[in-house]
Amino acid sequence: MRLVFMGPPGAGKGTQAKAVAEKYGVTHVSSGDIFRTEIAGNTELGGQIKAYLDSGALVPDEITVKAVVGRLGAARGADGWLLDGFPRTQAQAEALDEALEDDGEKLSAVIYLEVDTEIIVKRMAGRRVCPNCGRSYHTEHIPPKVEGTCDACGTRLITRDDDKPETVRQRLATYQQATTPLIEYYDRRGLLIRTDGTGTPDQVRARLFEQLKEVECG
Ligand code: AMP
Repeated sequence: MRLVFMGPPGAGKGTQAKAVAEKYGVTHVSSGDIFRTEIAGNTELGGQIKAYLDSGALVPDEITVKAVVGRLGAARGADGWLLDGFPRTQAQAEALDEALEDDGEKLSAVIYLEVDTEIIVKRMAGRRVCPNCGRSYHTEHIPPKVEGTCDACGTRLITRDDDKPETVRQRLATYQQATTPLIEYYDRRGLLIRTDGTGTPDQVRARLFEQLKEVECG
């Protein structure tokens, strides 16, 4: 299966993408995770992109396409992949189309997680991540067993810089402007699956798995 996961920042894409990748045994490729790993590792690429992530702006297409599409090759021969957070612009979507065509492959579906802006702003204020192992939590919905501490490795949890309110607003505006047109792009090609992203992560996952049954059969 080859899936693209779309949705505004804070829609729960990362959590659901991991669950779907696990269920179908496909490689989870998250552009945001790739970039954060580069920044944490102080690599040359990390240095080039840090300012974009800190301000909530999109990393330029050329850098993004190189960083993400390059990894899809590694998943060749496996059961497929799931792209989380990519493409986010028309140019990225076209680069993905080209890479698929070169490999003689097709997208199975594009999942669009729909969540209202007001709910997103509330959700993001409570989001916490572990700076060591990357596990994510929410003060209300997915609290750690011990407040402020990672269940898996005991590290003190942090709020991601780009989850701070000013940056969240910037990220939502960027999403609206650059990424919303892609929803129509994929809808026109009959690939779009709209999933209601409200409710608990378990409820959303159940809904999503039900909708994906059709893709499996198709
Ligand atoms: P995410 O974790 O998907 O919300 O991504 C975090 C940040 O990484 C975004 O706010 C952007 O700065 C950058 N980023 C992630 N994916 C992309 C993409 N496909 N195109 C451009 N920038 C991206």
